Amino acid sequence: MQFPNNQFIPLDEYVGTCNAHYYAAGEAIGADGDFITAPEISQMFGEVLGAWVISRWDQMGRPTPFQLIELGPGKGTLMADMLRVLRQHPDANAAAHVHLVETSPNLRAAQKQTLRGFTPPIMWHDDFNHIPAAPFILIANEFLDALPIKQLIYTLEGWLERGVIFKDGKAGWATAPLPRGWQPDIPPHMARPVPGNILEASPAIINEADKIIARLKNQKGSALIIDYGYAVPDYGDTFQALRHHAYADPLEHPGEQDLTAHVNFNALENLAHNAGVSYNGPAAQGDFLISIGLKLRVEKLLETTTAPEEKLEIIEAAHRLTHPSEMGTLFKVLCLSSPTLPAPEGFHAS
Ligand code: SAH
Repeated sequence: MQFPNNQFIPLDEYVGTCNAHYYAAGEAIGADGDFITAPEISQMFGEVLGAWVISRWDQMGRPTPFQLIELGPGKGTLMADMLRVLRQHPDANAAAHVHLVETSPNLRAAQKQTLRGFTPPIMWHDDFNHIPAAPFILIANEFLDALPIKQLIYTLEGWLERGVIFKDGKAGWATAPLPRGWQPDIPPHMARPVPGNILEASPAIINEADKIIARLKNQKGSALIIDYGYAVPDYGDTFQALRHHAYADPLEHPGEQDLTAHVNFNALENLAHNAGVSYNGPAAQGDFLISIGLKLRVEKLLETTTAPEEKLEIIEAAHRLTHPSEMGTLFKVLCLSSPTLPAPEGFHAS
């Protein structure tokens, strides 16, 4: 893909353009792609989330119909694993209307293929706001980290915006004055910046979260956000590229590798808090999955599996999803809910 030469491109514009191109190709996820996500590691992930959806639907008073919304469903694996569990609860299955928010035509096609054969109606949308308002349960796994971030860098001249300039078709880092009206939002616990400090912010993530929170104020609903990120913000550069399962230079091969950044869960909590929407977490993914029944699921699967190598695969997958040295701690789970609902399963009272 082509960017203009000799022109400052703010980092979020660069990431947005690259990722739109990258996801349109639809070959990102899986062993043949650039990265693996939890639902692609094991069906257990989607199965325990399916059980969580049923429990939440029950806590919501079993609204019929209800919308089962997924943002950025990838290959459709997570939704398929959840719908298999729903199928065993005829009331919930009959009440569910599936809404998928996906911009990539190729991934939409992959989702259609994966989800054929399930009974709930499925609709695709480009944007969450296109989904008609109704009681809903929303899941977003590794969606927010794919949205563009901005980076500011502190210098002897104060804060500047980081971005990219192409020279002879080759990208290099550059800085420019902050957009007019932009003030860095530095949480009070953070020390004063020193030159070289990088501050990340994602207007795109805030915009998505705002839409969900606005709906939660008017509709009974819950949104489960699962992603890698941090609960306590600090200075630092979390922007990264993944290509063929290895870290790569994010300025190389624009549009052909996965560009992501860690999600600032604290910013999401603050938005919910200020809007009067309830939130639980962020919990560590490992604690959350175990608390909603992952161990029982592992035991059940081990009982029905005879091949030793398959048994080993199940145990390894559970380890990968939950162990602190793997995805257990870096990945976090935040549940936003409309204010009147009881606390969801999976979050210990704190
Ligand atoms: N949730 C999946 C895939 C994560 S990859 C999984 O866990 O495997 C990110 C997904 O979000 C892809 O499906 C990508 O096409 C989609 N996506 C990225 N940016 C988007 C945007 N702005 N709007 C809608 N979907 C987007």
